[in-house]
Amino acid sequence: MNNKVMLIGVGGVGTVVAHKLAQNTDVFSKIMLASRTVSKCDALAQVLKNKYGVDVETAAVDADDVPALTELMRDFKPDIAINTALPYQDLHIMDACLAAGVNYLDTANYEPLDEAHFEYSWQWAYHDRFKQAGLCAILGCGFDPGQTGVYTAYAAKHHFDEIQYLDIVDCNAGDHHKAFATNFNPEINIREITQRGRYYENGKWVETDPLSVHKTLTYPEIGGKESYLLYHEELESLVKNFPSLRRARFWMTFGQEYLTHLRVIQNIGMARIDEVEYNGMKIVPIQFLKAVLPNPQDLGENYSGYTSIGCRIRGLKDGKERTYYIYNNCSHKAAYDETGMQGVSYTTGVPAMTGAYMFLTGKWTGAGVFNVEQFDPDPFMRKVAESGLPWHEKFDCDLEL
Ligand code: NDP
Repeated sequence: MNNKVMLIGVGGVGTVVAHKLAQNTDVFSKIMLASRTVSKCDALAQVLKNKYGVDVETAAVDADDVPALTELMRDFKPDIAINTALPYQDLHIMDACLAAGVNYLDTANYEPLDEAHFEYSWQWAYHDRFKQAGLCAILGCGFDPGQTGVYTAYAAKHHFDEIQYLDIVDCNAGDHHKAFATNFNPEINIREITQRGRYYENGKWVETDPLSVHKTLTYPEIGGKESYLLYHEELESLVKNFPSLRRARFWMTFGQEYLTHLRVIQNIGMARIDEVEYNGMKIVPIQFLKAVLPNPQDLGENYSGYTSIGCRIRGLKDGKERTYYIYNNCSHKAAYDETGMQGVSYTTGVPAMTGAYMFLTGKWTGAGVFNVEQFDPDPFMRKVAESGLPWHEKFDCDLEL
């Protein structure tokens, strides 16, 4: 195959995607790494050359500069652009893709810089334009969103006549040996978890105070962990694409130490996303905080333990109630040994490569804007398992544990 791929943004997740692209040059025959800081792309290109003997191109680009990105795309002519920059860039990269005639994939939905609010409506509004251009945009193809949507589609296709109750459970039982650090971009992470909680029940969204609903859930080979109800973006597309769902919720584990730090950060105003005057200049506290917190990309070296992310589903099969749990456990150390990044970046990057692989091999097709659960889950499940994220199933188990 003679496919070209442009990877935009080479932070933690992008580094993992780059490794996975270089491991699959039968499909990704020409790779370009394009990011704001080109020296990071060059350093990563050297790593890929040393590890896999693969030559990749690099370029400096500010993805918010649509004309510059369009020109870069017109010049390189990628078949698909994988966006692992930040959610703020999504619409600009989609605009450039439309202008240059390039297919698109990302791992997180658009979020405006000045408002901690994320929903798919902004990106779904591009559907007709992508359709008319004969281009495909694949949204939210990381782990959650991403793999969790594919798990749900796989369950609906193979194990249920009707899925009714969905709990997405995301546990990080790893230890990075730092007092406080976030596992992916701190600004995005803190904005996400300090929002009000939200879940779907009987056709309506129910709001909760931030992190106010929690319970102990048991994760395979890990044990019981306190898990907090959060709003997470894939709930929005999953309830739309699986209208039989009566309830859909998202749970994430946090340790007490993490929550205490988070509360202090909020109470002292460091989670603010508006500008404040400081020494005659304007700064945004959460952006300043990002600059002093540990860089998520540097956490990998001493990270022990596992992530465990999956879907717990209840519904009907042959007229009888069935419960089902599908999940992946990922070792931070194994992720680091392979890519130099920890498990959270790894679990995001592997599905992103897999989604692009599905598109370029013709397994996922279509013109327009799609969420991952709208495609056939089977070839994705095969490829993602052989690419480092094997999955496991449990039937008729107690989902409340
Ligand atoms: P990082 O902050 O580590 O990396 C982001 C990268 O994007 C950096 O290299 C940065 O460049 C680059 N970048 C930022 N702004 C621009 C711009 N305007 N133009 C070009 N490049 C830019 O973030 P992560 O790798 O942790 O996260 C990447 C994405 O993955 C985020 O959108 C995040 O929400 C998503 N994610 C999704 C998950 C999922 O399961 N679906 C889980 C975890 C993350 P520079 O180095 O110069 O700052």
